[in-house]
Amino acid sequence: MNPETVELLHQGAAELKLDLTASEAGFVRLLQLLQEGNARFNLTALKTERDIVLKHFVDSLTCLRGGHLDGTLQVVDLGTGAGFPALPLALVRPELQFTPVDSTRKKVDFVRATAQSLGLENVAPIAGRAETLTRQPEHRDQYDRVVVRAVAALPILAELALPFLREGGRLVAQKGPLSQEELRAGQRAAGELGAQVVEVEPFALPVLGDARTLVVMEKQRPTPARYPRREGVPNQQPLF
Ligand code: SAM
Repeated sequence: MNPETVELLHQGAAELKLDLTASEAGFVRLLQLLQEGNARFNLTALKTERDIVLKHFVDSLTCLRGGHLDGTLQVVDLGTGAGFPALPLALVRPELQFTPVDSTRKKVDFVRATAQSLGLENVAPIAGRAETLTRQPEHRDQYDRVVVRAVAALPILAELALPFLREGGRLVAQKGPLSQEELRAGQRAAGELGAQVVEVEPFALPVLGDARTLVVMEKQRPTPARYPRREGVPNQQPLF
């Protein structure tokens, strides 16, 4: 990582009131592993160091806003792709135990190998679809948090993510600009699935200023057993 990019990483983190001195080497190595992975198979559309550092690393760390990931928590990263937001979060929060989930085995294999190479013992990825995993007792109602970035619209996310959570658990969805229509549909879906939207926080991505929104849902009752519907249905026929 060139010195200007290291500086951008620290600048972005400072805007989030994070000190990355202890984890800087991990981020440098993660960038290298992503670039090597990209050379072998297309892992991420972002190719430049600057884009990866600001739009993947710093962007992932914005999930820490609002304190929803403070504490010792079991966290699913639903639709982790190449490991975002799980890997940056795992580097700065060793007390969080991450289960990155993705339906594409190739991506999960990359995340597992990368976590091992970074010495991250708090990352244990699994391959599978949320619709299927949340039908298994070892995954349904088991987790304290689900984090999610760039996977689907809110009502779809609610159906895929909320079944993973224990009562009192929270879904932390990092979104771009959020329309009132999507928010309303998300609120209705949350109600149907046993949860409530408890926070909607618009903010600007550090350094770049792009619009982001953190949406937090809290699970208050068990999700009805009929949810999630079978594979693909939440996407094809969103609840609201
Ligand atoms: N979260 C990553 C990020 O921010 O870079 C990746 C986002 S990528 C656009 C969406 C990912 O979600 C894909 O890797 C896809 O395989 C995964 N995905 C979509 N629907 C899923 C489902 N129902 N269960 C598990 N993974 C899913």
